[in-house]
Amino acid sequence: MGKTLQVINTTLKGNKTIQLQDTDVSKVGLPKVRLNPTVGIIEIASGCMSECTFCQTKLSKGDLQSYRIGDIVRQVKTEIADGCKEVWLTSTDNGCYGFDIGTDLPELVNTVSEIPSDFRIRVGMMNPMYMPRIRDGLLKSFENDKVYKFLHVPVQAGSDKVLHDMKRGHTSETFRDVSKRFREKFGDFTISTDIIVGFPTETDEDFAETVELLKETKPEVVNLSKYSARPGTDAAEWDQVDVATVKQRSKKIFDLTNHISYENNKEWIGWSGNVLFDELTDDGIKGRNFAYKPIFVRDEVKIGQSHAVKITKATNHSL
Ligand code: SF4
Repeated sequence: MGKTLQVINTTLKGNKTIQLQDTDVSKVGLPKVRLNPTVGIIEIASGCMSECTFCQTKLSKGDLQSYRIGDIVRQVKTEIADGCKEVWLTSTDNGCYGFDIGTDLPELVNTVSEIPSDFRIRVGMMNPMYMPRIRDGLLKSFENDKVYKFLHVPVQAGSDKVLHDMKRGHTSETFRDVSKRFREKFGDFTISTDIIVGFPTETDEDFAETVELLKETKPEVVNLSKYSARPGTDAAEWDQVDVATVKQRSKKIFDLTNHISYENNKEWIGWSGNVLFDELTDDGIKGRNFAYKPIFVRDEVKIGQSHAVKITKATNHSL
């Protein structure tokens, strides 16, 4: 704090100053500006336990440091008292949350779900690598109505050889298993994943395996990125796939995932139920149902309100 004031004063006098320091202070409970009054974003840990060969985040965030469940619960209560209707539990990799402090993600989700208020929980991104360890506990935690039936598990590629070269610590089978089990148990469920095309060791055959995996598992949301070498990472030192091939592969996945999400979304036409309107977008106020499907309505709604709706139309990206 002392240094913050010092930096501000120096800057006001027109001088440039830099004061950086490593700290292991928990970020839960620190003052923040909430951009969306309906959503409380809560960081549950910093860093991760992996060393993916394409990743620069690891270089800046370092090793896993999980924050205490008690501190997180206190923060959730504060967000709800401030009017939030939804909390997002987020970190670099939620999958390994708690392993350094003798707990895990299912235990955290269970404890947060027990807070006796009317709110929803969105569990953020978790790598497939730790799924075998937490899967059964998480399937149980997701039974609670407060938890959105939504998982973000970035598989990155369909080829086990590429996953090995990425040092992801999981196989494509781990992702297949997760998709299958959560869909089997909960029926309507949103699986979101990430795909990188054009990783240095990705051959045409490897790429075909990614296409196959997507066709088979049909994830509702795919965040697609073209591989680009990040300085300081292992994969940046390897022979790179040529740009034209990366572009072609990216276009193919883009078209395929658009088709898959449209087919998935069409299934929702005729569905009726409650939607919490939680986000202001350029297209109006967006709502989410229990399966975290993005929904827009013609009528005027206010952010933070819940309404019963009926789905009449589907596009690639929303209902
Ligand atoms: S991509 Fe891998 S190394 Fe990078 S932050 Fe995620 S889990 Fe950690």
